[in-house]
Amino acid sequence: MPLHDIRALFSRNYAEARQKFRSAAALRGLPAESFVLPLAGAVGETLATDVVFDGPRDAHNLVILISGVHGVEGYCGSAIQTGVLGLGPVPAPDTAVLHIHAVNPYGFSHSRRATHENIDLNRNFVDFSAPLPVNGPYAEIHDLLLPPAWPPSDENEARLAALRAQWGVRAFQRACGLGQYAFDDGLHYGGQAPAWSNTTFRQILRKYAQQCRHIGSVDVHTGLGPYGVGERIFACPDETVALARARRWWGNDITSVSTGTSTSIPMTGPIQHGQLEECPQAEQTNVCLEFGTHPVSVVLSAMRAEHWLHRHGSADTRHAAAIRQAFKDAFYPQSDDWQAAIWAQGREVFLQTVSGLQKPRRD
Ligand SMILES: [Zn+2]
Repeated sequence: MPLHDIRALFSRNYAEARQKFRSAAALRGLPAESFVLPLAGAVGETLATDVVFDGPRDAHNLVILISGVHGVEGYCGSAIQTGVLGLGPVPAPDTAVLHIHAVNPYGFSHSRRATHENIDLNRNFVDFSAPLPVNGPYAEIHDLLLPPAWPPSDENEARLAALRAQWGVRAFQRACGLGQYAFDDGLHYGGQAPAWSNTTFRQILRKYAQQCRHIGSVDVHTGLGPYGVGERIFACPDETVALARARRWWGNDITSVSTGTSTSIPMTGPIQHGQLEECPQAEQTNVCLEFGTHPVSVVLSAMRAEHWLHRHGSADTRHAAAIRQAFKDAFYPQSDDWQAAIWAQGREVFLQTVSGLQKPRRD
Protein backbone atom coordinates (compact mmCIF):
# COMPACT_ATOMS: atom_id res chain seq x y z
CA MET A 1 0.00 0.00 0.00
CA PRO A 2 1.44 3.45 -0.91
CA LEU A 3 2.46 5.67 1.99
CA HIS A 4 -0.31 8.23 1.46
CA ASP A 5 -2.90 5.44 1.64
CA ILE A 6 -1.39 4.18 4.89
CA ARG A 7 -1.41 7.73 6.31
CA ALA A 8 -5.09 7.95 5.42
CA LEU A 9 -5.88 5.01 7.73
CA PHE A 10 -4.65 6.94 10.79
CA SER A 11 -6.57 9.75 12.44
CA ARG A 12 -6.00 12.83 14.56
CA ASN A 13 -8.88 12.23 16.92
CA TYR A 14 -11.63 9.77 17.81
CA ALA A 15 -14.31 11.47 15.68
CA GLU A 16 -12.12 11.19 12.58
CA ALA A 17 -11.22 7.55 13.33
CA ARG A 18 -14.88 6.67 13.75
CA GLN A 19 -15.82 8.42 10.51
CA LYS A 20 -13.03 6.63 8.57
CA PHE A 21 -14.05 3.24 9.93
CA ARG A 22 -17.73 3.80 9.11
CA SER A 23 -16.89 5.14 5.63
CA ALA A 24 -14.73 2.09 4.85
CA ALA A 25 -17.67 -0.14 5.84
CA ALA A 26 -20.12 1.94 3.78
CA LEU A 27 -17.84 1.67 0.72
CA ARG A 28 -18.14 -2.09 1.04
CA GLY A 29 -21.93 -1.83 1.47
CA LEU A 30 -21.69 -3.06 5.08
CA PRO A 31 -23.95 -1.54 7.74
CA ALA A 32 -22.46 -0.37 11.03
CA GLU A 33 -24.37 -0.75 14.26
CA SER A 34 -23.63 1.87 16.91
CA PHE A 35 -23.81 1.20 20.63
CA VAL A 36 -23.99 4.77 21.88
CA LEU A 37 -22.47 5.84 25.19
CA PRO A 38 -24.65 8.73 26.39
CA LEU A 39 -21.79 11.08 27.26
CA ALA A 40 -20.25 13.89 25.23
CA GLY A 41 -16.99 13.42 23.36
CA ALA A 42 -14.01 15.74 23.81
CA VAL A 43 -15.33 18.10 21.11
CA GLY A 44 -19.00 17.30 21.68
CA GLU A 45 -19.14 14.40 19.23
CA THR A 46 -21.21 11.23 19.67
CA LEU A 47 -19.40 8.45 21.53
CA ALA A 48 -20.13 4.91 20.40
CA THR A 49 -18.74 1.45 19.97
CA ASP A 50 -19.37 0.68 16.29
CA VAL A 51 -19.80 -2.86 15.02
CA VAL A 52 -19.42 -4.12 11.47
CA PHE A 53 -19.99 -7.74 10.51
CA ASP A 54 -18.29 -8.70 7.24
CA GLY A 55 -19.19 -12.07 5.74
CA PRO A 56 -21.93 -14.69 6.08
CA ARG A 57 -23.88 -14.38 9.33
CA ASP A 58 -23.85 -18.17 9.73
CA ALA A 59 -20.10 -18.55 9.12
CA HIS A 60 -18.48 -21.22 11.30
CA ASN A 61 -15.19 -19.33 11.44
CA LEU A 62 -15.11 -15.86 12.98
CA VAL A 63 -12.25 -13.37 13.19
CA ILE A 64 -12.87 -10.76 15.88
CA LEU A 65 -10.88 -7.54 15.53
CA ILE A 66 -10.98 -5.32 18.61
CA SER A 67 -9.80 -1.72 18.97
CA GLY A 68 -9.76 0.86 21.73
CA VAL A 69 -10.02 -1.32 24.85
CA HIS A 70 -7.57 1.21 26.27
CA GLY A 71 -9.17 4.32 24.76
CA VAL A 72 -6.22 6.37 23.54
CA GLU A 73 -4.52 3.21 22.21
CA GLY A 74 -7.40 2.92 19.74
CA TYR A 75 -5.79 4.85 16.86
CA CYS A 76 -3.73 1.88 15.92
CA GLY A 77 -6.46 -0.79 16.03
CA SER A 78 -8.88 1.57 14.29
CA ALA A 79 -6.41 2.05 11.42
CA ILE A 80 -6.01 -1.72 11.08
CA GLN A 81 -9.77 -2.27 11.06
CA THR A 82 -10.28 0.44 8.44
CA GLY A 83 -7.46 -1.02 6.33
CA VAL A 84 -8.81 -4.56 6.63
CA LEU A 85 -12.24 -3.41 5.46
CA GLY A 86 -10.48 -1.87 2.46
CA LEU A 87 -8.90 -5.22 1.53
CA GLY A 88 -12.31 -6.38 0.27
CA PRO A 89 -14.41 -9.44 1.05
CA VAL A 90 -13.00 -11.97 3.53
CA PRO A 91 -10.63 -14.17 1.49
CA ALA A 92 -11.88 -17.56 2.73
CA PRO A 93 -15.10 -19.59 2.66
CA ASP A 94 -17.35 -19.96 5.69
CA THR A 95 -15.44 -17.17 7.43
CA ALA A 96 -16.57 -13.76 8.67
CA VAL A 97 -14.97 -10.81 10.44
CA LEU A 98 -16.54 -9.03 13.41
CA HIS A 99 -15.04 -5.56 13.79
CA ILE A 100 -15.60 -4.03 17.22
CA HIS A 101 -14.44 -0.42 16.93
CA ALA A 102 -13.63 1.68 20.01
CA VAL A 103 -14.68 -0.59 22.86
CA ASN A 104 -13.88 2.33 25.17
CA PRO A 105 -15.01 5.34 23.12
CA TYR A 106 -14.81 7.78 26.05
CA GLY A 107 -11.12 7.05 26.60
CA PHE A 108 -10.42 7.19 22.87
CA SER A 109 -12.06 10.60 22.53
CA HIS A 110 -10.78 12.14 25.77
CA SER A 111 -7.24 10.70 25.46
CA ARG A 112 -7.47 8.39 28.44
CA ARG A 113 -6.56 4.72 28.76
CA ALA A 114 -9.30 4.31 31.33
CA THR A 115 -13.03 4.44 30.76
CA HIS A 116 -15.27 7.26 32.02
CA GLU A 117 -15.53 5.20 35.26
CA ASN A 118 -11.69 5.42 35.57
CA ILE A 119 -11.67 1.68 34.95
CA ASP A 120 -8.91 -0.15 33.14
CA LEU A 121 -11.21 -2.27 30.98
CA ASN A 122 -8.60 -5.01 30.66
CA ARG A 123 -8.84 -5.54 34.45
CA ASN A 124 -12.66 -5.38 34.58
CA PHE A 125 -13.61 -8.86 33.33
CA VAL A 126 -13.53 -10.49 36.74
CA ASP A 127 -16.24 -12.27 38.70
CA PHE A 128 -17.81 -9.47 40.74
CA SER A 129 -19.86 -11.97 42.77
CA ALA A 130 -16.63 -13.37 44.24
CA PRO A 131 -14.07 -11.60 46.44
CA LEU A 132 -12.04 -9.28 44.21
CA PRO A 133 -8.31 -9.81 43.68
CA VAL A 134 -6.06 -8.00 46.15
CA ASN A 135 -2.93 -6.21 44.96
CA GLY A 136 -1.06 -5.46 48.18
CA PRO A 137 2.09 -3.98 46.62
CA TYR A 138 0.01 -1.42 44.68
CA ALA A 139 -1.46 -0.15 47.95
CA GLU A 140 2.10 0.60 49.10
CA ILE A 141 2.91 2.78 46.10
CA HIS A 142 -0.46 4.35 45.16
CA ASP A 143 0.34 7.69 46.84
CA LEU A 144 3.92 7.66 45.56
CA LEU A 145 2.79 7.03 41.97
CA LEU A 146 0.22 9.83 42.13
CA PRO A 147 1.72 12.42 44.52
CA PRO A 148 0.03 15.73 45.44
CA ALA A 149 2.18 17.74 42.98
CA TRP A 150 3.25 17.08 39.40
CA PRO A 151 6.03 16.85 38.28
CA PRO A 152 6.97 14.73 41.30
CA SER A 153 9.66 15.82 43.73
CA ASP A 154 13.17 14.33 43.66
CA GLU A 155 12.39 12.66 46.96
CA ASN A 156 9.31 10.98 45.46
CA GLU A 157 11.32 9.66 42.50
CA ALA A 158 14.09 8.44 44.80
CA ARG A 159 11.63 6.51 46.98
CA LEU A 160 10.06 4.84 43.95
CA ALA A 161 13.48 4.03 42.50
CA ALA A 162 14.51 2.46 45.80
CA LEU A 163 11.38 0.28 45.83
CA ARG A 164 11.98 -0.71 42.21
CA ALA A 165 15.52 -1.77 43.12
CA GLN A 166 14.33 -3.62 46.21
CA TRP A 167 11.43 -5.46 44.53
CA GLY A 168 13.03 -5.94 41.10
CA VAL A 169 11.85 -4.40 37.85
CA ARG A 170 9.39 -7.17 37.04
CA ALA A 171 7.76 -7.21 40.47
CA PHE A 172 7.50 -3.42 40.38
CA GLN A 173 5.85 -3.58 36.95
CA ARG A 174 3.49 -6.20 38.32
CA ALA A 175 2.58 -4.08 41.34
CA CYS A 176 1.72 -1.16 39.07
CA GLY A 177 0.02 -3.05 36.29
CA LEU A 178 -1.53 -6.28 37.53
CA GLY A 179 -4.81 -4.53 38.32
CA GLN A 180 -6.19 -3.25 41.62
CA TYR A 181 -9.71 -2.95 43.03
CA ALA A 182 -9.15 -0.78 46.09
CA PHE A 183 -8.36 2.73 44.75
CA ASP A 184 -11.01 4.11 42.41
CA ASP A 185 -8.80 7.08 41.51
CA GLY A 186 -5.74 4.91 40.95
CA LEU A 187 -3.85 3.29 38.10
CA HIS A 188 -5.20 0.12 36.48
CA TYR A 189 -8.36 0.22 38.61
CA GLY A 190 -10.53 -2.80 37.81
CA GLY A 191 -13.78 -1.40 39.21
CA GLN A 192 -16.44 -2.75 41.56
CA ALA A 193 -18.91 -3.69 38.81
CA PRO A 194 -18.85 -4.29 35.04
CA ALA A 195 -18.05 -1.09 33.15
CA TRP A 196 -20.35 0.16 30.37
CA SER A 197 -17.80 -1.12 27.85
CA ASN A 198 -17.79 -4.57 29.47
CA THR A 199 -21.59 -4.85 29.27
CA THR A 200 -21.60 -3.52 25.72
CA PHE A 201 -18.86 -5.89 24.55
CA ARG A 202 -20.84 -8.84 25.93
CA GLN A 203 -24.03 -7.58 24.28
CA ILE A 204 -22.21 -7.42 20.93
CA LEU A 205 -20.91 -10.97 21.26
CA ARG A 206 -24.37 -12.27 22.20
CA LYS A 207 -25.77 -10.68 19.07
CA TYR A 208 -22.99 -11.41 16.55
CA ALA A 209 -20.85 -14.31 17.77
CA GLN A 210 -23.19 -17.16 18.65
CA GLN A 211 -23.26 -18.93 15.25
CA CYS A 212 -19.54 -19.53 14.92
CA ARG A 213 -17.68 -22.65 16.07
CA HIS A 214 -14.15 -21.24 15.84
CA ILE A 215 -12.98 -17.80 16.91
CA GLY A 216 -9.65 -16.14 16.23
CA SER A 217 -9.51 -12.76 17.93
CA VAL A 218 -6.98 -9.96 17.69
CA ASP A 219 -7.09 -7.23 20.32
CA VAL A 220 -4.83 -4.32 19.38
CA HIS A 221 -2.91 -2.29 21.97
CA THR A 222 0.00 0.16 22.06
CA GLY A 223 2.60 1.34 24.57
CA LEU A 224 4.78 -1.66 25.43
CA GLY A 225 7.87 -2.97 23.70
CA PRO A 226 10.25 -1.72 21.00
CA TYR A 227 9.10 1.14 18.73
CA GLY A 228 6.87 -0.08 15.90
CA VAL A 229 7.21 -3.77 16.80
CA GLY A 230 3.96 -5.66 17.23
CA GLU A 231 4.43 -8.25 19.93
CA ARG A 232 2.01 -11.14 19.57
CA ILE A 233 0.92 -11.97 23.08
CA PHE A 234 -0.99 -15.20 23.57
CA ALA A 235 -4.35 -14.39 25.17
CA CYS A 236 -6.07 -17.65 26.13
CA PRO A 237 -6.09 -19.39 29.51
CA ASP A 238 -5.25 -22.77 27.96
CA GLU A 239 -1.46 -22.97 27.86
CA THR A 240 -1.12 -26.20 25.91
CA VAL A 241 -3.52 -26.95 23.07
CA ALA A 242 -4.48 -23.36 22.28
CA LEU A 243 -0.88 -22.17 22.55
CA ALA A 244 0.25 -24.81 20.07
CA ARG A 245 -2.50 -23.67 17.71
CA ALA A 246 -1.55 -20.01 18.20
CA ARG A 247 2.05 -20.88 17.27
CA ARG A 248 0.88 -22.56 14.09
CA TRP A 249 -1.16 -19.48 13.17
CA TRP A 250 1.00 -16.57 14.24
CA GLY A 251 4.52 -17.98 14.52
CA ASN A 252 6.83 -19.35 17.16
CA ASP A 253 7.72 -15.92 18.50
CA ILE A 254 4.28 -15.60 20.10
CA THR A 255 4.86 -14.63 23.73
CA SER A 256 3.11 -15.46 26.97
CA VAL A 257 2.56 -13.36 30.07
CA SER A 258 2.38 -16.45 32.27
CA THR A 259 5.75 -17.87 31.23
CA GLY A 260 7.40 -14.44 31.35
CA THR A 261 8.37 -14.30 27.66
CA SER A 262 6.24 -11.20 27.12
CA THR A 263 7.11 -7.56 27.84
CA SER A 264 3.66 -7.53 29.41
CA ILE A 265 2.72 -9.10 32.72
CA PRO A 266 -0.23 -11.21 33.87
CA MET A 267 -3.32 -9.15 34.59
CA THR A 268 -6.57 -9.79 36.36
CA GLY A 269 -9.74 -9.63 34.26
CA PRO A 270 -8.66 -9.16 30.62
CA ILE A 271 -11.35 -8.72 27.95
CA GLN A 272 -10.81 -12.23 26.54
CA HIS A 273 -12.49 -13.57 29.69
CA GLY A 274 -15.69 -11.94 28.47
CA GLN A 275 -15.23 -13.56 25.09
CA LEU A 276 -14.77 -17.00 26.67
CA GLU A 277 -17.85 -16.53 28.86
CA GLU A 278 -20.13 -15.22 26.13
CA CYS A 279 -19.06 -17.64 23.38
CA PRO A 280 -18.64 -21.01 25.13
CA GLN A 281 -19.74 -22.79 21.94
CA ALA A 282 -16.60 -21.73 20.07
CA GLU A 283 -13.03 -22.93 20.21
CA GLN A 284 -10.98 -19.79 20.74
CA THR A 285 -7.52 -18.73 19.69
CA ASN A 286 -6.81 -15.20 20.85
CA VAL A 287 -3.91 -12.82 20.61
CA CYS A 288 -3.11 -9.33 21.85
CA LEU A 289 -1.16 -7.38 19.31
CA GLU A 290 0.87 -4.91 21.39
CA PHE A 291 2.77 -2.25 19.43
CA GLY A 292 5.74 -0.55 21.03
CA THR A 293 5.87 3.23 21.07
CA HIS A 294 8.42 4.75 23.46
CA PRO A 295 10.62 3.47 26.32
CA VAL A 296 8.80 2.13 29.39
CA SER A 297 10.03 5.05 31.51
CA VAL A 298 8.41 7.57 29.14
CA VAL A 299 5.13 5.66 28.96
CA LEU A 300 4.91 5.08 32.73
CA SER A 301 5.68 8.72 33.45
CA ALA A 302 2.98 9.83 30.97
CA MET A 303 0.51 7.45 32.62
CA ARG A 304 1.31 8.71 36.10
CA ALA A 305 0.95 12.33 34.97
CA GLU A 306 -2.40 11.69 33.31
CA HIS A 307 -3.72 9.82 36.33
CA TRP A 308 -2.35 12.52 38.60
CA LEU A 309 -4.43 15.01 36.60
CA HIS A 310 -7.47 12.79 36.99
CA ARG A 311 -6.88 12.37 40.72
CA HIS A 312 -5.89 15.87 41.75
CA GLY A 313 -6.95 18.11 38.85
CA SER A 314 -5.11 21.25 37.80
CA ALA A 315 -6.25 24.86 37.68
CA ASP A 316 -3.52 25.51 35.12
CA THR A 317 -5.14 24.72 31.77
CA ARG A 318 -1.81 24.81 29.89
CA HIS A 319 -0.27 22.35 32.32
CA ALA A 320 -3.29 20.05 31.94
CA ALA A 321 -3.23 20.30 28.14
CA ALA A 322 0.50 19.51 28.05
CA ILE A 323 -0.04 16.41 30.20
CA ARG A 324 -2.87 15.22 27.93
CA GLN A 325 -0.82 15.80 24.78
CA ALA A 326 2.22 13.97 26.19
CA PHE A 327 -0.06 11.10 27.15
CA LYS A 328 -1.51 10.82 23.65
CA ASP A 329 1.98 11.01 22.12
CA ALA A 330 3.19 8.23 24.44
CA PHE A 331 0.65 5.81 22.99
CA TYR A 332 0.38 7.15 19.46
CA PRO A 333 3.53 8.18 17.58
CA GLN A 334 2.28 10.05 14.53
CA SER A 335 5.19 9.31 12.22
CA ASP A 336 5.22 7.59 8.83
CA ASP A 337 7.63 4.79 9.75
CA TRP A 338 5.63 3.80 12.83
CA GLN A 339 2.32 3.85 11.01
CA ALA A 340 3.66 1.88 8.04
CA ALA A 341 5.04 -0.75 10.45
CA ILE A 342 1.68 -0.97 12.23
CA TRP A 343 -0.30 -1.49 9.05
CA ALA A 344 2.14 -4.11 7.65
CA GLN A 345 2.00 -6.17 10.85
CA GLY A 346 -1.71 -5.65 11.45
CA ARG A 347 -2.53 -6.82 7.95
CA GLU A 348 -0.24 -9.83 8.31
CA VAL A 349 -1.75 -10.92 11.62
CA PHE A 350 -5.26 -10.52 10.20
CA LEU A 351 -4.44 -12.69 7.16
CA GLN A 352 -2.70 -15.26 9.38
CA THR A 353 -5.83 -15.42 11.53
CA VAL A 354 -8.05 -16.01 8.51
CA SER A 355 -5.81 -18.77 7.20
CA GLY A 356 -5.33 -20.24 10.69
CA LEU A 357 -9.08 -20.68 10.97
CA GLN A 358 -8.99 -22.79 7.77
CA LYS A 359 -6.33 -25.18 9.05
CA PRO A 360 -7.38 -28.73 9.81
CA ARG A 361 -7.71 -29.17 13.54
CA ARG A 362 -5.45 -31.61 15.30
CA ASP A 363 -7.21 -31.28 18.62
ZN1 LIG B 1 -3.47 -1.54 26.18
